[in-house]
Amino acid sequence: MALCCILAARRAYTTAMSENPKQNNGSSNGQAGHVTQVKRREQRSMPAHLGRLLELVNLVPRDFDMPEKLPIRSEVIPGLSIEDDMRERTIRAFDGMPDALRAHLLGFDHWYSVLSRYHDIRAWRENLRKMIAGEYPLVIEVRARIEPDQKHKAQVTLPSLNEEPFANAITGADVRLLKECPVCGKFFYAIRINQDAWPANCAVALRKRRERANAKLRSLRSKKRSVPKPGSKRGAIRNERLQER
Ligand SMILES: [Zn+2]
Repeated sequence: MALCCILAARRAYTTAMSENPKQNNGSSNGQAGHVTQVKRREQRSMPAHLGRLLELVNLVPRDFDMPEKLPIRSEVIPGLSIEDDMRERTIRAFDGMPDALRAHLLGFDHWYSVLSRYHDIRAWRENLRKMIAGEYPLVIEVRARIEPDQKHKAQVTLPSLNEEPFANAITGADVRLLKECPVCGKFFYAIRINQDAWPANCAVALRKRRERANAKLRSLRSKKRSVPKPGSKRGAIRNERLQER
């Protein structure tokens, strides 16, 4: 893939990421509304582009496996120009992907942007999971530019922060607030450290799940404490032990 293509795709991305950052800040994770002053202040501290990045990563269902190598067929489709052929084969590689992800990926003009989008979302998802698991330092790939100068010496230009969407979005985020919902698997930026699930219906589901687990534990404990019924297996074992003494 030519470098200019990568850069064009990157530019398109940076634009997509910077669209209306204010709207993406907080409201995208559905937590605007009935919040206290304190919560609202915390919510505002979410980095401007993080909401949009989480939205994009959340297009991928939790258990959906994103292969590193896309199944792009090698044989050329007859009757198409090279560009159209590559585009068509790329689109076909996305058959069977979740609808929202597919719609997002294919909403681009050039096949190389589509591929670039796919690989970025895949990398962001992995990065977020590593951060949530506390795997630091997290090393991410950046796209440095290498060009020979007039004396034919290789010169490396590192990308600026806003050319690297993940680095740009994550800068300044409180890493303790980055979470993956245990109910629906969506990534979110919590409004407080002990918020474990998102959105609200997941929080309710998680609370119920915990209540059920606690109730089960309580009943198990009380069963252990209770004297086994005569004739039961536990009772028989207990009687045997008593007789042995
Ligand atoms: Zn959830």
